[in-house]
Amino acid sequence: MIRMKLNKKGKWLVTLLFLIVPILFIFNSLETQPTKKVPMPTKLNDLVEAKSKQLVNEAARKGIRVVITDDFRSAKDQNALYAQGRSSDGNVVTNARGGESYHNYGLAIDFALAAPGGEQLIWDMDYDGNGNSKSDWKEVVEIAKNLGFEWGGDWAKFKDYPHLQMSFGLTINDLQNGVRPSKNGVPTNLAMKDKIVKFFKEISNI
Ligand SMILES: [Zn+2]
Repeated sequence: MIRMKLNKKGKWLVTLLFLIVPILFIFNSLETQPTKKVPMPTKLNDLVEAKSKQLVNEAARKGIRVVITDDFRSAKDQNALYAQGRSSDGNVVTNARGGESYHNYGLAIDFALAAPGGEQLIWDMDYDGNGNSKSDWKEVVEIAKNLGFEWGGDWAKFKDYPHLQMSFGLTINDLQNGVRPSKNGVPTNLAMKDKIVKFFKEISNI
């Protein structure tokens, strides 16, 4: 009876529904699949490390001394940092608990500047040590972005000016679920997920 009432468009929608349900099921299982214990990284990601060195070198060529002040941070260290300004002394420096920061997955670095030969770290974003009338900090950020880093200073909520990260399209949730970037930086699990998202976008445009 219902069948008879369906016009061409209706039939097409029913067919689509039958296609979508199993796809959604697969998509959902992909999202949660790697929950089996994937070990936490213990060091900086190789690609992030290589790009960090490149950043320091490229900045040096412009007469800017970049100091990497922090890179990989264990979940335990992250929790200690989270406590700072909350249950322990100091200012609040992070909103991320252990496992909630890209540092915990070896995908983030923090930097500061220093004068050539100087011991003192420089956090002044207006500092122009190379005298080209441009902020050294901003010059470093520009180089970093060209190397593929995302800058914490671009965040809308908690601006983190010394922070640079490479997420490779992975959210903290993905990372917590055990998805990791591969050697060349492309997350294998996510690549499949991306394909499905793309497919949904395409069919919704019909
Ligand atoms: Zn950071």
